Amino acid sequence: MSTTALTLNDVSMIYPDGDSEIKALDSVSMEVAAGEFVAVTGPSGSGKSTLLAVAGLLQQPTRGTIEIGGVDVGSLRAKDRTTVRRDEIGFVFQQSNLIGSLTALEQLQIVAHLRGEKPSDATDRAKEILDRVGLRDAAGRRPHQLSGGQRQRVGIARALMNTPTLLLVDEPTSALDKERGAAILDLLGEVTHERGVATVMVTHDVEHLGSVDRVFGMDDGVLTVHDTDRGLQPA
Ligand code: ADP
Ligand code: MG
Repeated sequence: MSTTALTLNDVSMIYPDGDSEIKALDSVSMEVAAGEFVAVTGPSGSGKSTLLAVAGLLQQPTRGTIEIGGVDVGSLRAKDRTTVRRDEIGFVFQQSNLIGSLTALEQLQIVAHLRGEKPSDATDRAKEILDRVGLRDAAGRRPHQLSGGQRQRVGIARALMNTPTLLLVDEPTSALDKERGAAILDLLGEVTHERGVATVMVTHDVEHLGSVDRVFGMDDGVLTVHDTDRGLQPA
């Protein structure tokens, strides 16, 4: 039986907009299992990044509940939410957001250092993960010495450093050419399955979703389920 890693229950995010309001998320419910790779596609402005911000505890939703690893995170104090974010959630963004002065290995080590881990343990794990994402020989390089695809691989490796329950990925291929983008999606699928992490990736790229287990659509804040026979249906 698979365990549910992420549950969103009737989550809405409403921004004020002058006299009116923007429903960035409109009663979104979804469940993602450990080891499952889920994609959410939709046009720009449809609410995809907001979905990740809310699931990643970067923003409090206007309504609804979020559970990560079975814990209702809405009921946690701010300090405990920060701990959940650090220890249970990995983020990968469109730009890899690496620190310019640090080597690939150091980008990973600092993540473990921030939560007080023993440096030797962290170094062993960092090397193992860099090896897994195909960067064994690039461990000593700084971001400017890496290609865009390699930087994105460091970003993925860094997100895996704390063995997260949940991996949240925002438009990981939009700065890459097709071939490198497809390789990144394959890698995300592989690490999701082999490490048992629940991965939610948002993208407006509907090509190369072969490694994805389920595809949702997002339209004006409404989540839809992609059904190959019937098109998009309410989730
Ligand atoms: P996507 O990632 O699909 O492009 P977003 O989640 O970024 O969409 O945005 C969804 C909607 O919410 C858009 O209409 C956007 O303008 C609006 N929005 C996003 N963040 C904010 C904010 N902090 N304040 C007000 N409106 C916002
Ligand atoms: Mg976005």
